Amino acid sequence: MSEISILVLDEGTTSTRAMLFGLDGAPRGVAQRELTQHYPRTGWVEHDANEIWDQTLTCAKAMIEHVGGPENIAAIGITNQRETVVAWDKETGEPLTRAIVWQDRRTADFCAGLKAGGHEAAVREKTGLLLDPYFSGTKMRWLLDHVDAVKDAATRGTLALGTVESWLVWKLSGGKSFITDAANASRTLLLPLAGGSWDEELCELFGVPLSALGQVVDNYGPLATTEETVLGGEIPITGMAGDQQAASVGQNCLSPGDTKATYGTGAFVLTNMGEALPRLHHRLLGTVLVQAGGQRTYALEGSVFVAGSLIQYLRDTLGLIETAAESENLARSIESSGGVVVVPALSGLGAPHWLPHARGKIAGLGFDTGKAHIVRAALESMAHQTVDLAAAFAADGAPWSSLRIDGGMSSNDWMAQDIADLLGLTVTRPDFVETTALGAAMLAAAGAGLYPDLKQAAEAMSGAAQDFLPAMDEATRAERIANWAAAVEKLAE
Ligand code: ADP
Repeated sequence: MSEISILVLDEGTTSTRAMLFGLDGAPRGVAQRELTQHYPRTGWVEHDANEIWDQTLTCAKAMIEHVGGPENIAAIGITNQRETVVAWDKETGEPLTRAIVWQDRRTADFCAGLKAGGHEAAVREKTGLLLDPYFSGTKMRWLLDHVDAVKDAATRGTLALGTVESWLVWKLSGGKSFITDAANASRTLLLPLAGGSWDEELCELFGVPLSALGQVVDNYGPLATTEETVLGGEIPITGMAGDQQAASVGQNCLSPGDTKATYGTGAFVLTNMGEALPRLHHRLLGTVLVQAGGQRTYALEGSVFVAGSLIQYLRDTLGLIETAAESENLARSIESSGGVVVVPALSGLGAPHWLPHARGKIAGLGFDTGKAHIVRAALESMAHQTVDLAAAFAADGAPWSSLRIDGGMSSNDWMAQDIADLLGLTVTRPDFVETTALGAAMLAAAGAGLYPDLKQAAEAMSGAAQDFLPAMDEATRAERIANWAAAVEKLAE
């Protein structure tokens, strides 16, 4: 194969992948490895950073062989699970302990302490985030407090702390580039959203030494180069972004107001806010979407904790369905859910409600309620959670005019139509739903100068999509929304 390709390294929570894309955005190959999940205690989730690296190398080499050598790779793009923290030694190149994964809750008490100390308002104002164990800075602090090897490396001045893309670039460049992209850095609690590099006051608050952090760089451009011996050639790394930001690029959400929702295990919604700092009155997050030439484009972000995992719960715990896809047939088999409402607060309720201790519920049961009603109501809860987010986004100055969806759960046509119906907006789903990897390929293509800018790269590399147009009558819609609101309101009591 002589045509040039873009190599994307997609380091997810459960697997590592390498994917090849043509300059038209068409996928040309994929290699994948499952990543081991370590759960040493309740609420703790860890990954082995060496396993991440070994898998990345294996998958990347397989794809390079597939195209006939590194000379046929024009550029590398990287996308990653966000917020996960790796600690390594800059001298030995070895991880100092296991990586703490984004889902890990071990820093809850530390966050509660900072909140009690009255720090949340200032941190939120500066970073756009909340004081929550989710974010990387709290995990960095934990490592410094609890792991001797990390403490010792900090004392010696050889400590490196970084999110996964930072670790991968460091390894790919043979230890020459210690960088992190602005979108990933904006999830640490250490980066001022308004611009510039690491904030000294925040680093002090979290007890993270500045010397342990990589240089904050753009999301695309000449970012780094692979060391010759690592992949058999010096390949430019020209695009990097966390998974949700990359998915936004992959969905071509590059103009203010453009919005995407990814329905996987949970659901993540991001709206492009342009170059103005987002207003944050409704407990949504402000984050960097893309930085280029030091100039930031922002996003407003809302996360729903339970999306596809509700369908897994219906399948694996309640046994109401045998496959996730069966939920669609059951929903279609009846005219309505008969007033049944499922509130999927199985691990609290996320944005915009933020009821961390809420428990889920199934309301409106009668003798005529069958499993189809419950399954349909479970799928309906996705549209309802999305509508609630839409209201919060609108109140924070980001009304949606349409919604682009992706993620494993978006393959459910019935759910896609229901979201369009309840939002009263067109919902668009690309035929190629691997938008995260595609977005990293777009960033890398723009960063390598293969297109004049990111917008042109995204346009040229986007594929066909299907539209779901709203068709529900207003009375049905109003009744559904009222039933949901009543069920959620009681939850808060
Ligand atoms: P993640 O990237 O978070 O691992 P995926 O994007 O692969 O998740 O999506 C998988 C989730 O989507 C699973 O929780 C599964 O239950 C759900 N899912 C997959 N197909 C369907 C379907 N047809 N209907 C409803 N849910 C589905």
